[in-house]
Amino acid sequence: MTKNNDNLLEKVVSLCKRRGFVFPGSEIYGGLAGFWDYGPLGVELKNNIKKMWWQDMVYQRDDVVGLDAAIIMNPEVWESSGHTKSLVDPLVECKICHKRIRADQEDKLKEHEGEHKEKVEWTEPKTFNLLTEVYLGVTEPKEKTYLRGEITQGVFVNFANVVSSSRVKIPFGIAQIGKAFRNEITPGNFTFRSREFEQMELEYFVKPEEKEAEKVFDYWKNQRLNWYKNLGIRAENLRFRKHADNELAHYARMAEDIEYNSPFGWKEFEGIHHRGDWDLSRHNLKYRDMETNTEYTPWVIETSGGVDRAALFFLLDAYYEDESRVVLKLHPKLAPNQAAIFPLVANKPELVKKAKEVYDDLRKEFRVAWDDRGNIGKRYYSQDEIGTPFCITFDFDSLEDKKVTIRYRDTMEQERVKIEELQPFLDKKLK
Ligand SMILES: [Zn+2]
Repeated sequence: MTKNNDNLLEKVVSLCKRRGFVFPGSEIYGGLAGFWDYGPLGVELKNNIKKMWWQDMVYQRDDVVGLDAAIIMNPEVWESSGHTKSLVDPLVECKICHKRIRADQEDKLKEHEGEHKEKVEWTEPKTFNLLTEVYLGVTEPKEKTYLRGEITQGVFVNFANVVSSSRVKIPFGIAQIGKAFRNEITPGNFTFRSREFEQMELEYFVKPEEKEAEKVFDYWKNQRLNWYKNLGIRAENLRFRKHADNELAHYARMAEDIEYNSPFGWKEFEGIHHRGDWDLSRHNLKYRDMETNTEYTPWVIETSGGVDRAALFFLLDAYYEDESRVVLKLHPKLAPNQAAIFPLVANKPELVKKAKEVYDDLRKEFRVAWDDRGNIGKRYYSQDEIGTPFCITFDFDSLEDKKVTIRYRDTMEQERVKIEELQPFLDKKLK
């Protein structure tokens, strides 16, 4: 099966809607730009991405602990972190229809100019803050704060709490997964740029030494690239891109993106940032090294990935089709269903009953689906399209020889396996 990338984004968007991965947010009310809802299969894919990330970034390491901070924080956090001043986009306004577009998006500006018959003039660029304001309380004046613009600050404001309550010592990291919000003016490219999104981030604290920090930076760059490769993203679709000095975020001393070769160009998958002491010093936080009895402000190397764009890029990378079928070649650890169980026919109670027993047995350990609709061909088609790596069929012979047929998603090869060996078989393939 070869990869055909014509209209790939459109095909994936359509599959997502049809099979229940991603729906437009509040769709029955006409939607809301920049917001998306994940359906029954989408939530599984996202959960699997997060599970794998937590597994590799927290459970497999001695030097990383987890955290789950609140989405709404004291507004002083955002003053100190610089986000109220620096998380801004420069916008220009069309003098004819007053539409606002980011001044640095030349293709969007040109596109808009093409929509008018007369010559378009733009206002001077004005900056707009991307933090989403919220108002708390019921009596006036209400207390104004923000939905977090990045999950990162929740880690920094808890730095001292984590150090004093756990046994971490520099170098160590704090990992977090959670939602963040940005008042993006031009959300787009499906779920790639949304106003509500989920981040998975590691803040890794090191001594304030440039050489050491750069070593850690390189280490995490490669760790993160390999993480995506190991979960099936094809190497030729990944690359690093170093930020030029003039595009560095206000907190960054050094930044490099892992980019993905998407249908809408090479786009940021994950950012690796050298934040120096920017954040901890802004929050007046220090670290006391008990062994040397010295005090200093640690530096931070950050890995910042998006769960939604990871889900999107995993789907784009996994999408294959030919005349006979559409296949999502998702890594078995990410696939919403790990296996599907079919009774060969649905109208033989004895067969269905025994197949159900196999299903009930496996569902205790694995994410398995049951399907007894239509014929086997249709069921294969339906499971291929959502990326189920194994289909297991219980047929008439199974009643006698206690074996079932396993059919592989990618090769369509089939194999007879003893029912009692199903669990070890799946264990080996999926764990
Ligand atoms: Zn206009």
